[in-house]
Amino acid sequence: MMEFIPVNEPIIGDQEKELVLSCLNTGWISSEGSFVEEFESKFSYKCARKYGIAVSSGTAALDIAIQALNISKDDEIIMPSFTIISCIHQIVRIGAIPVFVDSDLRTWNMDISKVEDNITSKTKAILVPHIYGLAVDMQFILDLAKKYNLLVIEDAAEVIGQECRTKPCGSFGDISIFSFYANKHITTGEGGMIVTNSENLNERCKALRNLCFQNENRFIHEEIGWNYRMTNIQAALGLGQLSRLEKIIHRKKEIGLIYTEKLKELSDFILLPDLSTEYSSNIFWVFGIILKNQEKFKSAKNLSIFLKENNIGNRPFFYPLHLQPVLLRIYPHLGNIKLPISEKMYKNGLYLPSGLALTNDQIDYVCSILKKAFQDF
Ligand SMILES: *Cc1c(COP(=O)(O)O)cnc(C)c1O
Repeated sequence: MMEFIPVNEPIIGDQEKELVLSCLNTGWISSEGSFVEEFESKFSYKCARKYGIAVSSGTAALDIAIQALNISKDDEIIMPSFTIISCIHQIVRIGAIPVFVDSDLRTWNMDISKVEDNITSKTKAILVPHIYGLAVDMQFILDLAKKYNLLVIEDAAEVIGQECRTKPCGSFGDISIFSFYANKHITTGEGGMIVTNSENLNERCKALRNLCFQNENRFIHEEIGWNYRMTNIQAALGLGQLSRLEKIIHRKKEIGLIYTEKLKELSDFILLPDLSTEYSSNIFWVFGIILKNQEKFKSAKNLSIFLKENNIGNRPFFYPLHLQPVLLRIYPHLGNIKLPISEKMYKNGLYLPSGLALTNDQIDYVCSILKKAFQDF
C-alpha cells in the first residue's frame, strides 16, 4: 500500500526561505516592518484594488469587514448555508441576522437565482464566498446589490488568483477578503488580507486591526477593535508565495484535470466538479466529489473511512450553517429551514488530497482505489 497521502501539504520554496531569513536578520519581526506593506501593495495590485490590509487570518478579515461596513443589530445578511463557520462569527456577535440561501449543485456555490427572493427591507448586505474553486457570477450579484442598495462582502479565501469574466476575484465586493491558511493557494501559515477601493474603509479596517489606536492621541480610543495584525515574518513568506502564484494555479488546475480525466468513468457513482462555467474556470482549491444515489457507501462518511483505510487523507464537506447546533440556539427560527442541496452536499460530499505537494503517482493511486471502491457495481 502507498504511504499515507495527506489531504493537503503545502510547498515552501527557496525564495520564501530566503525572504523569511532576511526578515529575521533585520530584527523586524512584529507587524512593524517593510514586508507587510510590500505584501499589501503587491497583493492588492494583483486583485486590482487600491488598498490591502494584511491581517492574522481570513476569519479576522471577515470580522473586520462586517464591523467596518457598520452592519448592526437586526440587519439581515444574505449568504449561503454551505460555507465555513468563519463567515458568521461577527454577524452573530453584532446580533445581525443571517438569511441562508441554498447552493447550486453544479457550481457548489450559493444559488444566485434564489438571492432576490430573500431580499427584504431589512437586508443590508450579501456575503458571497466562492466555494472550492469555481467563482460565483459576481456581475449578477453586483447588479442586485445596485438595484436594492446593498453592500457586498466577497469571501475570496478559496480562490486566490481566480477570475470571474476576466476580472480578478477579490475585486468585486465593497470589501473582499482572503485567507493564507496553510491549505490555501498561497500561504503565510496563518494569515489573511482585506482589500477595498475605499479610502474610508481602508482607514477603518486598519484601525480595527490595530486596537483602534488613533494617530494623534494614540492611547485614547473611540472604538473597540482587535489585535489582528500580520507579522513581518508572515508577510515575507507571503511575498515569496505570491511570486509563484501563476505556477501554483497552473499546478492546481492540472491536479483537477488529472482527477477529472481519471474519474470520469465513475460518473454513475460520483458527481465531479465542473472544469468551468461560462464565467470562470475551476482552479480547484480542493478536489471535491459528491456521491450519487448508490448502494455501497450510502454516505460520504463511509467512503471517507474506506479511503482512510487505504491511506488516503480526505475531508468532509462543510456542515451547513443552518444545521449548526450553536446557531440553532442563537437563531431558533433556523429549525424550520430546509436547504436540501446544502444538506445533500454535506451528506454525500468529501474532498480528496489536493495539496501542492501531491504527486501524479499519488493521484493515480487515489483514483485506482476509488475505482476499486465501486468496481462491484
Ligand atoms: C479558509 C477560509 C476562511 C477562513 O480563513 P482562516 O485564515 O482559516 O481564518 C474563510 N472563508 C473561506 C471561504 C475559507 O475557505
